[in-house]
Amino acid sequence: MSLVIDAHNHVGVRHGASQTGDELVAKMDEAGVDRACVFPFVEGVVDNTAVDDAAGPHPDRLIPYLALNPWTGQAAIDELHQRADAGARGLKLHPTIHGYHLSDLELVGPLLDAVRERGLVVICHGASDLYNAPPEFARICAAYPEVPFMMAHSGTFWSHDQAMEVAADTPNLYLETARVPVFEVSLSVRQLGPEKVIWGTDSPFVDYVFEFEKMDRACGSADAKELVCGGNLARLLGLD
Ligand SMILES: [Zn+2]
Repeated sequence: MSLVIDAHNHVGVRHGASQTGDELVAKMDEAGVDRACVFPFVEGVVDNTAVDDAAGPHPDRLIPYLALNPWTGQAAIDELHQRADAGARGLKLHPTIHGYHLSDLELVGPLLDAVRERGLVVICHGASDLYNAPPEFARICAAYPEVPFMMAHSGTFWSHDQAMEVAADTPNLYLETARVPVFEVSLSVRQLGPEKVIWGTDSPFVDYVFEFEKMDRACGSADAKELVCGGNLARLLGLD
Protein backbone atom coordinates (compact mmCIF):
# COMPACT_ATOMS: atom_id res chain seq x y z
CA MET A 1 0.00 0.00 0.00
CA SER A 2 1.52 3.29 -1.01
CA LEU A 3 1.27 6.42 1.06
CA VAL A 4 -2.09 8.18 1.23
CA ILE A 5 -1.33 11.81 0.35
CA ASP A 6 -3.69 14.78 0.26
CA ALA A 7 -2.50 17.20 -2.45
CA HIS A 8 -4.40 20.35 -1.45
CA ASN A 9 -4.61 22.07 1.97
CA HIS A 10 -4.54 25.64 3.21
CA VAL A 11 -3.00 26.63 6.55
CA GLY A 12 -2.85 29.90 8.45
CA VAL A 13 -5.48 32.51 9.11
CA ARG A 14 -7.55 34.83 6.98
CA HIS A 15 -10.90 36.37 7.76
CA GLY A 16 -13.54 33.68 7.54
CA ALA A 17 -11.13 30.73 7.57
CA SER A 18 -8.22 29.27 9.46
CA GLN A 19 -6.40 25.97 9.92
CA THR A 20 -3.38 25.04 12.02
CA GLY A 21 -1.06 22.14 11.36
CA ASP A 22 -2.33 20.40 14.49
CA GLU A 23 -5.93 20.73 13.31
CA LEU A 24 -5.09 19.32 9.89
CA VAL A 25 -3.12 16.39 11.32
CA ALA A 26 -6.08 15.55 13.60
CA LYS A 27 -8.33 15.39 10.52
CA MET A 28 -5.79 13.23 8.69
CA ASP A 29 -5.63 10.85 11.65
CA GLU A 30 -9.41 10.54 11.71
CA ALA A 31 -9.56 9.81 7.98
CA GLY A 32 -6.47 7.59 7.77
CA VAL A 33 -4.31 9.91 5.67
CA ASP A 34 -0.51 9.68 5.88
CA ARG A 35 0.70 12.98 4.48
CA ALA A 36 -0.67 16.28 3.21
CA CYS A 37 0.71 19.11 1.07
CA VAL A 38 0.20 22.52 2.70
CA PHE A 39 0.27 26.12 1.48
CA PRO A 40 -1.23 29.40 2.70
CA PHE A 41 -4.56 30.96 1.90
CA VAL A 42 -4.11 33.00 -1.27
CA GLU A 43 -6.52 35.91 -0.83
CA GLY A 44 -4.87 39.27 -0.17
CA VAL A 45 -1.23 39.20 0.91
CA VAL A 46 0.14 35.66 0.69
CA ASP A 47 1.93 34.73 3.92
CA ASN A 48 4.11 31.68 3.46
CA THR A 49 5.31 31.77 7.07
CA ALA A 50 1.97 30.07 7.84
CA VAL A 51 3.48 26.96 6.25
CA ASP A 52 6.46 27.09 8.60
CA ASP A 53 4.16 27.33 11.61
CA ALA A 54 1.97 24.45 10.43
CA ALA A 55 4.49 22.05 8.90
CA GLY A 56 7.48 22.74 11.15
CA PRO A 57 6.17 20.63 14.04
CA HIS A 58 4.96 17.86 11.67
CA PRO A 59 7.83 17.15 9.26
CA ASP A 60 6.77 13.51 8.86
CA ARG A 61 3.15 14.37 8.00
CA LEU A 62 2.94 17.77 6.27
CA ILE A 63 4.74 18.52 2.99
CA PRO A 64 5.58 22.23 2.64
CA TYR A 65 4.64 24.07 -0.54
CA LEU A 66 4.48 27.80 -1.07
CA ALA A 67 2.01 30.12 -2.76
CA LEU A 68 3.03 33.14 -4.80
CA ASN A 69 1.46 36.00 -6.71
CA PRO A 70 3.46 36.46 -9.94
CA TRP A 71 2.61 40.16 -10.02
CA THR A 72 5.17 40.59 -7.22
CA GLY A 73 7.90 39.92 -9.80
CA GLN A 74 11.45 39.32 -8.64
CA ALA A 75 10.34 39.16 -4.99
CA ALA A 76 8.29 36.06 -5.85
CA ILE A 77 11.25 34.41 -7.58
CA ASP A 78 13.56 35.20 -4.67
CA GLU A 79 11.04 33.78 -2.19
CA LEU A 80 10.67 30.63 -4.29
CA HIS A 81 14.41 30.00 -4.18
CA GLN A 82 14.60 30.69 -0.44
CA ARG A 83 11.75 28.32 0.27
CA ALA A 84 13.03 25.63 -2.07
CA ASP A 85 16.32 25.83 -0.16
CA ALA A 86 14.31 25.31 3.04
CA GLY A 87 12.50 22.25 1.65
CA ALA A 88 9.39 23.49 -0.21
CA ARG A 89 8.28 20.89 -2.73
CA GLY A 90 5.59 22.63 -4.74
CA LEU A 91 4.04 25.93 -5.80
CA LYS A 92 0.36 26.92 -5.52
CA LEU A 93 -0.98 29.43 -8.05
CA HIS A 94 -4.43 31.07 -8.20
CA PRO A 95 -4.78 33.05 -11.43
CA THR A 96 -8.39 34.07 -10.80
CA ILE A 97 -7.79 35.58 -7.37
CA HIS A 98 -4.53 37.24 -8.41
CA GLY A 99 -5.76 38.41 -11.79
CA TYR A 100 -3.68 36.94 -14.63
CA HIS A 101 -3.94 34.35 -17.37
CA LEU A 102 -2.11 31.16 -16.36
CA SER A 103 -0.56 31.02 -19.85
CA ASP A 104 0.74 34.62 -19.72
CA LEU A 105 4.35 33.63 -20.29
CA GLU A 106 5.70 37.14 -19.90
CA LEU A 107 4.28 37.30 -16.37
CA VAL A 108 4.36 33.69 -15.21
CA GLY A 109 7.32 32.42 -17.23
CA PRO A 110 10.12 33.72 -14.97
CA LEU A 111 8.46 32.06 -11.97
CA LEU A 112 8.04 28.78 -13.83
CA ASP A 113 11.65 28.93 -14.97
CA ALA A 114 12.53 28.86 -11.26
CA VAL A 115 10.02 26.06 -10.61
CA ARG A 116 11.65 23.98 -13.34
CA GLU A 117 15.14 24.76 -12.10
CA ARG A 118 14.25 23.69 -8.55
CA GLY A 119 12.28 20.59 -9.53
CA LEU A 120 9.01 21.66 -7.90
CA VAL A 121 5.48 20.62 -8.83
CA VAL A 122 2.67 23.11 -9.48
CA ILE A 123 -0.87 22.97 -8.18
CA CYS A 124 -3.04 25.64 -9.76
CA HIS A 125 -6.65 26.60 -9.19
CA GLY A 126 -8.52 25.13 -12.11
CA ALA A 127 -12.25 25.52 -11.68
CA SER A 128 -14.09 26.72 -14.77
CA ASP A 129 -12.96 30.34 -14.50
CA LEU A 130 -11.69 32.47 -17.37
CA TYR A 131 -8.10 32.97 -16.21
CA ASN A 132 -7.44 29.29 -15.48
CA ALA A 133 -9.77 27.48 -17.89
CA PRO A 134 -8.42 24.19 -19.33
CA PRO A 135 -6.94 25.80 -22.51
CA GLU A 136 -4.76 27.94 -20.23
CA PHE A 137 -3.34 24.72 -18.73
CA ALA A 138 -2.80 23.26 -22.20
CA ARG A 139 -0.66 26.25 -23.20
CA ILE A 140 1.40 26.47 -20.01
CA CYS A 141 1.94 22.71 -19.80
CA ALA A 142 3.21 22.72 -23.39
CA ALA A 143 5.63 25.53 -22.55
CA TYR A 144 6.93 23.67 -19.46
CA PRO A 145 6.74 19.96 -20.30
CA GLU A 146 9.22 19.08 -17.50
CA VAL A 147 6.98 20.58 -14.80
CA PRO A 148 4.09 18.49 -13.40
CA PHE A 149 0.89 20.55 -13.16
CA MET A 150 -2.19 19.66 -11.09
CA MET A 151 -5.47 21.29 -12.14
CA ALA A 152 -7.19 21.84 -8.80
CA HIS A 153 -10.94 21.13 -8.97
CA SER A 154 -10.61 19.40 -12.39
CA GLY A 155 -12.33 22.20 -14.31
CA THR A 156 -15.67 21.73 -12.56
CA PHE A 157 -18.39 22.45 -13.12
CA TRP A 158 -18.69 23.72 -16.67
CA SER A 159 -15.26 22.81 -17.98
CA HIS A 160 -14.83 19.27 -16.70
CA ASP A 161 -15.25 17.66 -20.14
CA GLN A 162 -12.74 20.11 -21.60
CA ALA A 163 -10.37 19.44 -18.67
CA MET A 164 -10.45 15.71 -19.46
CA GLU A 165 -9.76 16.42 -23.16
CA VAL A 166 -6.79 18.62 -22.32
CA ALA A 167 -5.42 16.20 -19.72
CA ALA A 168 -5.64 13.31 -22.18
CA ASP A 169 -3.43 15.22 -24.63
CA THR A 170 -1.02 16.65 -22.02
CA PRO A 171 1.45 14.25 -20.40
CA ASN A 172 2.42 16.60 -17.55
CA LEU A 173 -1.14 17.54 -16.53
CA TYR A 174 -3.09 15.82 -13.73
CA LEU A 175 -6.66 16.47 -12.64
CA GLU A 176 -6.97 17.13 -8.90
CA THR A 177 -10.21 16.15 -7.20
CA ALA A 178 -10.78 18.70 -4.40
CA ARG A 179 -14.48 19.41 -3.97
CA VAL A 180 -15.23 17.70 -7.29
CA PRO A 181 -18.44 15.63 -7.18
CA VAL A 182 -18.13 11.85 -7.25
CA PHE A 183 -19.71 11.63 -10.71
CA GLU A 184 -17.03 13.83 -12.30
CA VAL A 185 -14.15 12.19 -10.39
CA SER A 186 -15.27 8.75 -11.50
CA LEU A 187 -15.53 9.96 -15.11
CA SER A 188 -11.96 11.30 -14.89
CA VAL A 189 -10.68 7.98 -13.52
CA ARG A 190 -12.51 5.90 -16.10
CA GLN A 191 -11.77 8.05 -19.15
CA LEU A 192 -8.20 9.11 -18.39
CA GLY A 193 -7.06 6.23 -16.20
CA PRO A 194 -6.16 6.50 -12.51
CA GLU A 195 -2.59 7.55 -13.27
CA LYS A 196 -3.90 10.96 -14.43
CA VAL A 197 -5.97 11.80 -11.34
CA ILE A 198 -4.69 13.08 -7.98
CA TRP A 199 -6.68 13.31 -4.77
CA GLY A 200 -6.80 16.54 -2.76
CA THR A 201 -9.30 18.01 -0.33
CA ASP A 202 -8.95 21.83 -0.21
CA SER A 203 -9.18 21.72 3.57
CA PRO A 204 -10.33 23.53 5.64
CA PHE A 205 -13.21 24.13 3.19
CA VAL A 206 -14.49 20.55 3.32
CA ASP A 207 -15.85 17.72 5.38
CA TYR A 208 -12.43 16.11 5.50
CA VAL A 209 -13.41 12.49 6.11
CA PHE A 210 -16.10 12.65 3.42
CA GLU A 211 -13.59 13.93 0.85
CA PHE A 212 -11.50 10.81 1.45
CA GLU A 213 -14.38 8.36 1.67
CA LYS A 214 -15.89 9.61 -1.59
CA MET A 215 -12.80 8.25 -3.35
CA ASP A 216 -13.91 4.66 -2.67
CA ARG A 217 -16.94 5.26 -4.89
CA ALA A 218 -15.10 7.46 -7.39
CA CYS A 219 -12.08 5.22 -8.01
CA GLY A 220 -13.96 1.96 -8.40
CA SER A 221 -11.07 -0.34 -7.42
CA ALA A 222 -8.42 -0.57 -4.72
CA ASP A 223 -5.65 -0.38 -7.31
CA ALA A 224 -7.03 2.82 -8.83
CA LYS A 225 -7.54 4.37 -5.40
CA GLU A 226 -3.96 3.63 -4.43
CA LEU A 227 -2.67 5.60 -7.42
CA VAL A 228 -5.13 8.47 -7.13
CA CYS A 229 -4.90 8.87 -3.35
CA GLY A 230 -1.14 9.02 -3.08
CA GLY A 231 0.71 6.78 -5.52
CA ASN A 232 0.81 9.30 -8.36
CA LEU A 233 1.84 12.20 -6.16
CA ALA A 234 4.44 10.11 -4.31
CA ARG A 235 6.03 9.39 -7.67
CA LEU A 236 6.00 13.06 -8.70
CA LEU A 237 7.50 14.13 -5.37
CA GLY A 238 9.96 11.26 -5.20
CA LEU A 239 8.54 9.91 -1.93
CA ASP A 240 8.55 6.22 -1.04
ZN1 LIG B 1 -7.68 25.64 -2.32
